[in-house]
Amino acid sequence: MNYNKKNVEDIAVAGKTVLVRCDFNVPLKDGVITSDKRIVEALPTIKYLMGQGAKVILCSHMGKPKGEVVAKYSLAPVAARLTELLGVNVPLAADTIGEDAKAKAAALKNGEVMLLENTRFDKREEKNDAEFAKEMASMAEVYVNDAFGAAHRAHASTAGAADYLPAVCGYLIQKEIGVMGKALADPERPFVAILGGAKVADKLNVIDNLLSKVDTLIIGGGMAYTFLAAQGKSIGTSLLDETKLDYCREMLKKAEEKGVKLLLPIDTVVAASFPDPIDGEIAVDVVDSDKIPADKMGLDIGPKTRELFADAVKAAKTVVWNGPMGVFENPTLAKGTIAVAQALADSDAITIVGGGDSAAACEQLGFASKITHISTGGGASLEFLEGRELPGIACLLDK
Ligand code: AMP
Repeated sequence: MNYNKKNVEDIAVAGKTVLVRCDFNVPLKDGVITSDKRIVEALPTIKYLMGQGAKVILCSHMGKPKGEVVAKYSLAPVAARLTELLGVNVPLAADTIGEDAKAKAAALKNGEVMLLENTRFDKREEKNDAEFAKEMASMAEVYVNDAFGAAHRAHASTAGAADYLPAVCGYLIQKEIGVMGKALADPERPFVAILGGAKVADKLNVIDNLLSKVDTLIIGGGMAYTFLAAQGKSIGTSLLDETKLDYCREMLKKAEEKGVKLLLPIDTVVAASFPDPIDGEIAVDVVDSDKIPADKMGLDIGPKTRELFADAVKAAKTVVWNGPMGVFENPTLAKGTIAVAQALADSDAITIVGGGDSAAACEQLGFASKITHISTGGGASLEFLEGRELPGIACLLDK
């Protein structure tokens, strides 16, 4: 995959109508935006285009309306927030490629900006339908993709539109592929990757790809237990994917052959069962990872493991982290995840957190400013770490 893509500064935009795909899929509670991080991250590109005198048409998906017009997934709160942040009125079209969208787009003056309604209100969006993409592109002369969080999807607005317009990336995508691309292609060593989360099956290709690149691979979270089982340890009632035991053995062997240090939990926080409710009170014990009782379930890494993982981070020059170390939704079982976030925050290394739960943990703990880069894309950053080609980036013009 070539990450050396043209960006907004490599193309003439003055006086041109520019269609910009953003990731405005922000969390909402009762119609109120609870985090506007994704909107704020899109501002540099929008401001640059406005400053250059482009006519800016913004578009994004929100939620999963499945091709229907669903009022609660309207981008109206986003248009209001953009209006506040930009200090200019950002009108929202009543539709995505309909009459109102086209009329508002045609009326744009240089330096003005508007927002199309949710791209997923039309079922052709997620099918990457050529007609839909062409209609959307017909309103503009240049296409800019800045939606890193949706770049792993080949949809009409994230990739299809690039078939009809010269296509470049915005500053956010440029930053994401710049930091993560360098870490994978030419990392400062030692390079340590930390993977967690529930299932091994979700991370098969990431583990495989990272084993060819890192000096140390750390595995925690629910997925660690299948690895422990593959080493012949009894894991009680902890999460186990029997179909992946051979895969884990293969990865353990690959690590050994490549000289990669693979660290697994040496001790574990166990309980009688999964917490119910997930954030409810729970009685726990700590046991060594080779002494998990038959009737107990591992739900977080133990204190010795927290220290082991933190020491590995301390020695690193580049750290990539994706996935929680335990059932972090429960305060009693969040200590492992907090310890890893703390280790990254304390480190002088280049630290990269790949979206989703781990990014939320760093933000909630107030560590965000101490991390080199927190990706705005959960799924996208994971596919990036897998070494997969992201359609929303592959479709852009090479430098
Ligand atoms: P993922 O979606 O794969 O990133 O996994 C995140 C989920 O994994 C979180 O909701 C955690 O509660 C869960 N998780 C982490 N560790 C464990 C564990 N030891 N047992 C069960 N679930 C876990």
